[in-house]
Amino acid sequence: MVTEQTQPEVNIGLVGHVDHGKTTLVQALSGDWTDQHSEEMKRGISIRLGYADATLRRCPDCAEPECYTVEETCPEHDVDTEILRTVSFVDAPGHETLMATMLSGASIMDGAVLVVSATEDVPQAQTEEHLMALDIIGIENIVIAQNKVDLVDDERARDNYEQIREFVEGTVAEDAPVVPVSAQQGVNVDLVIQALEDRIPTPERDESLPAKMYTARSFDINRPGTKAKDLLGGVVGGSLAQGTLEVDDELELRPGREVEEGGSSEYHAIETSVRSLQAGGRSQETVGPGGLLGVGTGLDPSLTKGDALAGQVAGEPGTLPPTREAFEMEVELLDRVVGEGEVEEISTGEPLMLTVGTATTVGAVTSARSGECEVNLKRPVCADEGAKIAINRRMGARWRLIGVGTLTE
Ligand code: GDP
Ligand code: MG
Repeated sequence: MVTEQTQPEVNIGLVGHVDHGKTTLVQALSGDWTDQHSEEMKRGISIRLGYADATLRRCPDCAEPECYTVEETCPEHDVDTEILRTVSFVDAPGHETLMATMLSGASIMDGAVLVVSATEDVPQAQTEEHLMALDIIGIENIVIAQNKVDLVDDERARDNYEQIREFVEGTVAEDAPVVPVSAQQGVNVDLVIQALEDRIPTPERDESLPAKMYTARSFDINRPGTKAKDLLGGVVGGSLAQGTLEVDDELELRPGREVEEGGSSEYHAIETSVRSLQAGGRSQETVGPGGLLGVGTGLDPSLTKGDALAGQVAGEPGTLPPTREAFEMEVELLDRVVGEGEVEEISTGEPLMLTVGTATTVGAVTSARSGECEVNLKRPVCADEGAKIAINRRMGARWRLIGVGTLTE
């Protein structure tokens, strides 16, 4: 039976330029505010991937598209609404220096909403950069929200719409619907839900394979001053790509943690067990692939504090991809970098920032040929052959997306 407590079954990313209204749209769809961390509140931007769950519903008595809602009771007909599905929103930051966070989020997105403000010319820098990222990571299910339509007149809204259409021509978002919306005023949220239902289906996943989860966050949930005997174990948050997790399951995390031994250091996989599971805002005994979930572990919470384990792969012991301190990849470079012009070939010796799954690491290029290169990583990653890698190059003060790699060995 589909109930209120359904586990989220799909991850939908919110991407686009800073201040265009991603967090406000998530709030309109879920009632949750993803900027929940005090530092983020202070700076007014989503520093880390925020996430919020929403249950999308329809009123049995309303016509399309007015029937789409997140309300449990239809205000028009005073009847209970039917649950369509529960989704997790991954609210990526728009701030340009935080592209790495957006990329690591993209690896767990099944689809994305590109939020574009109607009040500015299209494209703004991160509108373009984020769309390129969706393109190279291969996220094809996209809905465009033309936001802040309450602030512009009809003519401006039409011009802006034309700019959006022109901008996405020839990209992965070419056929994406453009939904005019005011996230702040709650206007046309029904149309957004309809577009999410039409355009971002829940992907088929295999629950019979061993559990494999990409962690995007990790926390210490204990209040300061909690007595040692009352401490709860560390929590990791992320998404299962395959398999299921159950309370009491054994859990391995790779690459694990750095262990210093006689002057050199190496990474040792971490073994623990599942103590509790959270999904869709409540405790669960078992969870499957889909939305974002929190896994309570038996780990010392100091190990999970402050996202220390973000980027790790967690799952059934003995089944995880290998830990790699170096790898070879095939490289496909972008034609140009937003705001910087043409992309030059990768050269031996240069540092690259690589996003592999939810992990971000810096690698030094040890050998570069046209179309492929070898890198030595500062911090190892856990990844299979064939893994997609977002490649960033330092340009001026920041890292810019320059292409995509495929791990070959
Ligand atoms: P983000 O950086 O993309 O997450 O943008 P936010 O959601 O934080 O929104 C940035 C600012 O724009 C906030 O002050 C919002 O209140 C405002 N805003 C967002 N959506 C709308 C909208 O539809 N209309 C108006 N007038 N303001 C909006
Ligand atoms: Mg935001």
